[in-house]
Amino acid sequence: MTRQFNNLIDGEWTAGERYTPNVNPSNTNEIVGEFASASAEHVTAAIAAARRVFPVWSSYPCQARADILMRAAQTLRAESQRLGELLSREEGRALKEAISEVIRAAQIFEYFSGEVVRTGGEIFPSTRPGAEVFVTREPLGVVGLITPWNVPIAIPAWKIAPALAYGNCVVIKPAELVPASTWEICRILMEAGLPKGVLNLVMGPGRVVGEAFLASPDIDAISFTGSVATGRHIAAQAVQSQKKVQCEMGGKNPLIVLDDADLEIATDVAIDGGFFWTGQRCTASSRLIVQKGIHDRFVARMLEKMAALKVDHALKDGTQIGPAVDERQLSQNLRYVDIAREEGGDVHGGGRLERETPGFYMAPALVLNTQNHWRINQEEVFGPVACVIRVENYEDALAVANDTQFGLSSGICTNSLAASTHFRRHSRAGTVAVNLTTTGSEYHVAFGGRRASSYGAREQGRYAMDFYTAIKTSYVRA
Ligand code: NDP
Repeated sequence: MTRQFNNLIDGEWTAGERYTPNVNPSNTNEIVGEFASASAEHVTAAIAAARRVFPVWSSYPCQARADILMRAAQTLRAESQRLGELLSREEGRALKEAISEVIRAAQIFEYFSGEVVRTGGEIFPSTRPGAEVFVTREPLGVVGLITPWNVPIAIPAWKIAPALAYGNCVVIKPAELVPASTWEICRILMEAGLPKGVLNLVMGPGRVVGEAFLASPDIDAISFTGSVATGRHIAAQAVQSQKKVQCEMGGKNPLIVLDDADLEIATDVAIDGGFFWTGQRCTASSRLIVQKGIHDRFVARMLEKMAALKVDHALKDGTQIGPAVDERQLSQNLRYVDIAREEGGDVHGGGRLERETPGFYMAPALVLNTQNHWRINQEEVFGPVACVIRVENYEDALAVANDTQFGLSSGICTNSLAASTHFRRHSRAGTVAVNLTTTGSEYHVAFGGRRASSYGAREQGRYAMDFYTAIKTSYVRA
């Protein structure tokens, strides 16, 4: 019998009003588990529990808070193989990368365990005689976290860990497609000694559970990662009720390849950034802006490397690219390949693939001779589809790179210090990579984008404190 997984409300594993199967996209005959859907009443109970325990958690001894986060990190590391397999099974990520994501989650908990004692503050002289001014940080209260399906354990971790570290209570809603990894984080934190009610898990669809967050007057802040359309809706609703809000959304990220680039580095970076994780990365480099002198050699080497890529069951030895997450995403990818063809692109690869097990497999697609204003270069596909845009020189490349509604990540492959420095300063993106993939983000530094890609404060590193705390200014005369 398929195992059922419940919501976590006020420290109790609580049955749902119904259960949704979590299907393995590498083998649709396999059900990873059945996951409880929360009702609006469950969400209200979860928020109430978080609100009730907030005075306890926000004044908890900081060493005890740090120890809980560190114990959770240790368990994540100890269970990384099993949790990596689980992530592969629910999302379709190739196993090696899935295990790396679990390790990343552990690193995030380790980092924020340390941050608990580094919150600090500042003291200023007062303009009034005999007084001093203290600027300190306080937790916000109850934070609602809403996460997407494409990074099932690291994104929940990079929201839960700072929220708890800075003394907030949490209600989290993972994407309905991939609830298992977040369920495991919650189990691990409870086993690590987190008091009941501090962290609550409410699974189910966004239109029920997510909307209940937006409607609640008892949620102080919402941190969201997902699509632009949902993010804009959430931001608008949150502003109406004056909730603090942070949204990380989509991208259409450029990678410039200049004539003087190292061809092997440039093609490795483009293959990784465009196709690994099945292209299901907000930071994927889907627009390859290539200078004319290296263009033909770049394309030839890309096609050679693409031919060697292994697309298969995420748990199979040697698989580099797993399936799309579900039929809806695969159909969207294939539809965009058709759009690229209709717009005049020269498509290599890009078809549906059959494998031993029934799944959502697709060959990576490289689309040549494209123009930046085409839909295929302006809309996020979220699949293994990358387009080549040929340009004359660096100035044209920069203009094309910035000509998009998005501004999440960008990259340049070049051996010119002048070009890379100019690009770093003038790229209209939140993250810039030089001779590295646009997808690399590290847990100790700020992550986030600009324009349509992001709204609100940055995530990760000590920058997370700006979102998860409120500033208080105290004037004191002794
Ligand atoms: P969605 O916007 O569809 O969903 C994101 C989350 O929002 C899910 O948990 C979803 O629930 C929930 N949701 C949906 N509707 C509502 C609503 N009305 N109110 C509240 N919550 C709601 O995005 P995807 O899950 O499809 O994720 C892919 C997108 O995420 C891509 O655009 C990608 O670029 C972006 N992304 C951005 C990142 C970044 O850091 N910038 C990182 C990773 C992904 P459910 O699906 O369960 O119904």
